[in-house]
Amino acid sequence: MKLVIGLLCLSLGAAEVVKEADAKALASIVSFLASDALEGRDTPSAGLTIASEYIASEFRRVGLEDSFQTAKMSLRKVNRQGFEVSFTDGAKTVALPVDTALWSAGAMVELSGAAVKKLTAAELRDLALTEVEPVVVIEGPGGPGMQPGWMKLSQIGAKVIVLVGIPMPLAQQTIEFEDQPRPNVLMLRTADKDAEAFLKASASLKATIKIGEASSKAEEARNVIGILRGSDPKLKDEYVLLTAHYDHLGVRPNDAGDKVYNGANDNASGVASIIESARLIAELKPKRSVMFVAFFGEERGLLGSRYLVRHPIVPLKQMVANVNLEQTGRTDSSEGPNVGMLNLTGYHFTTIHKHMEDAGKATDLKIVKHEKFSDPYFQASDNAAFAPVGVPSTTVSVTYAFPDYHQKGDEWEKIDYANMAKVTRAIAQGTFLIADAPERIVWNAEEPKTKAFREAAAKLH
Ligand SMILES: [Zn+2]
Repeated sequence: MKLVIGLLCLSLGAAEVVKEADAKALASIVSFLASDALEGRDTPSAGLTIASEYIASEFRRVGLEDSFQTAKMSLRKVNRQGFEVSFTDGAKTVALPVDTALWSAGAMVELSGAAVKKLTAAELRDLALTEVEPVVVIEGPGGPGMQPGWMKLSQIGAKVIVLVGIPMPLAQQTIEFEDQPRPNVLMLRTADKDAEAFLKASASLKATIKIGEASSKAEEARNVIGILRGSDPKLKDEYVLLTAHYDHLGVRPNDAGDKVYNGANDNASGVASIIESARLIAELKPKRSVMFVAFFGEERGLLGSRYLVRHPIVPLKQMVANVNLEQTGRTDSSEGPNVGMLNLTGYHFTTIHKHMEDAGKATDLKIVKHEKFSDPYFQASDNAAFAPVGVPSTTVSVTYAFPDYHQKGDEWEKIDYANMAKVTRAIAQGTFLIADAPERIVWNAEEPKTKAFREAAAKLH
């Protein structure tokens, strides 16, 4: 009898633990989303729409209240006709061949012998100019952090920004939302090494740039939302967001052989993990509500998550935390095998890691901080849309870089589904603990990198 009472006390004291995740269900979801039939789920595309219907039906299967959030957009395609771009330094002129040029789709530009300003990425950050030349050449790494600088340049007179030394190509299509602020400036790059070297070396450049107006088409894309209502009469108005993007890079018709970028690990795996987590969490009936969201357009610049933040379906102050999932399937990290472990970006930015660590203990999984990647990767996925408005966030993944990242070889057969079931269980448990805890998640006040996020959070409450 004593023993029975003792066991009873133990079970009352310890938190509940979610059941095991189903590896076969995960494989089933990933293999459909990453099949060639869905043509790489580009934003927008027919494959993306089919994926959204499928995810909504899976949300219904696991008992969520499902809905779509539809974003209207215009898709602009570059106009290659009449393209003429050349740069002159004294006696030397270099023309950019159209087939090595990449530029953003926008309004017509016609400049002849225009003045050129050269800036480094560091100079752009502390820019104090009130006027600038019509063409600006910027040398240095790109990334979302440069956007405010580009915006400022467009406001003080820049018509064209030429980027030099950026590894990522620019998309030849631009998606615009009516309510989305973006720089009214044409971004230009070249894959021609000689032209790029000339732009880097020249001190006093003049530019002639003739680029036609982009064509424009009305399109739509959807976030898929599933809600699990909380069990506590008060706390059910607070929401934990468990999210993952469902889009990928689409097809490249000019590629030889395989043309489909399947995006199995990036990020059909994350979507499968949120669906399976929903099934597991629902059984434990957490106090707070959990909102599961599959985002469109992450690969085109966090479009779906930024859209949700601009059009929140519940007030932002009722969003307790965003746990975003990426790459939960493959264990063959570029740095060696990652088995039985999960990474968190911005590990010490918020108190999310404490619940994830407890979940790791309860489900026998290591929760780790990658000393080099954890903080910089905080800006690399959809969780980064939530931080600037104050909502504590992180992205959880098994690997950072992996061999087929953004390649056609990211196929469903390469995923370790037994490991994926274990990490999905830990994710479900961590999300349950965040949703069930008496206290809310907070930003870490000791971490200087969270200053802007803490200020935004203070404005919400
Ligand atoms: Zn991704």
